[in-house]
Amino acid sequence: TLIGALAACGGGGAGSAAPGEEGGSQAAEDVTIGVAMPTQTSERWIADGEAVESQLEEAGFTVDLQFANDDIPTQQQQIDQMITKGADILIVASIDGTALGNQLQAAADQDIPIIAYDRLINDTENVDFYVTFDNYNVGVQQATSLLQGLGVLDAEGEETGEEGPFAVELFAGSLDDNNAHFFWGGAMDTLEPYLDSGVLEVASGQTDIEQAATLRWSQETAQKRMEDLLTAHYGGGKEQLDGVLSPYDGISRGIITALQNAGYGKDIESGLPVTSGQDAEIASVKLIDTGVQYATIFKDTRKLATQAVEAATAYAEGGEPEPNDTESYDNGVKVVPSFLLESDIVVADNIESLLVESGYWTAEEVEAGK
Ligand code: BGC
Repeated sequence: TLIGALAACGGGGAGSAAPGEEGGSQAAEDVTIGVAMPTQTSERWIADGEAVESQLEEAGFTVDLQFANDDIPTQQQQIDQMITKGADILIVASIDGTALGNQLQAAADQDIPIIAYDRLINDTENVDFYVTFDNYNVGVQQATSLLQGLGVLDAEGEETGEEGPFAVELFAGSLDDNNAHFFWGGAMDTLEPYLDSGVLEVASGQTDIEQAATLRWSQETAQKRMEDLLTAHYGGGKEQLDGVLSPYDGISRGIITALQNAGYGKDIESGLPVTSGQDAEIASVKLIDTGVQYATIFKDTRKLATQAVEAATAYAEGGEPEPNDTESYDNGVKVVPSFLLESDIVVADNIESLLVESGYWTAEEVEAGK
């Protein structure tokens, strides 16, 4: 049986059947783990896919890794196929957190444990565990970095007494991604006192997540919205923009391109507004290093992969993974036991200590092409 095969993976879960266990002939390699990733257009998901695959293989498992091109039917099909081909455990980073109901029901009917990866899967009881970062805190960090770039907060996060007013615009992620709401929530809770007191002003008035949203986190969509905002509310004798809240590096680069094209200057020193980000993508790390993008949020995908592998190993051994959070992530049907990791704000000064010394990027990668 499946459980027999899984349980036979043994105590260490590291590729060998536990010695002495009756019939312990099934090895970890007989356990197949389906890994569904959303897209290869953003390098973080490629890194996630590679890290999960290699760490699972190191633990001895057989891996079926698929990327879905940010296309929901493709992801549905891929998961259907994983189940048909006999996956024993699923690790899923969804595109749309509510679109996988049928697939997950089919998995649950066959007792396949389902681990939500980075993005919560909503409106279903068929999600067993969630590995992610503290997404609310990512939003707090994004807003904090914007306030630091504007000089409202110092490096320690203390108020400097700087009263502005600063003109800012706000961008959110894709509304079908549960994380987008957490990032926005953390960011807005942090910015709201300054919006209320007039230190920050949003000339467009677009302060609702629906107005700020960027479908599929698209760089082009963000660039277009920034261009439209500039045309309607800035320049030509009107106000100058000082800063932009951006939830993801690809979106940040779209925003920066629009600003540069509109004549704001090539870097922050020559007049480019301060822009936040997320994921420490290499293209944005270079922009931060050269003073073009102000900050990003570093989420170490290698550590997230490790948590996913630990959770899968626990299920393979017939046990349950250990959560460190059992209240934050209600998916509409139940509170999903979660393991949350911490993230860091990256600015020019700590690229070396956070990204290079940890081996996430090499110094050569940061320097290349500059
Ligand atoms: C992830 C972010 C990423 C975004 C766009 C979110 O679900 O948590 O790290 O920037 O998707 O890919």
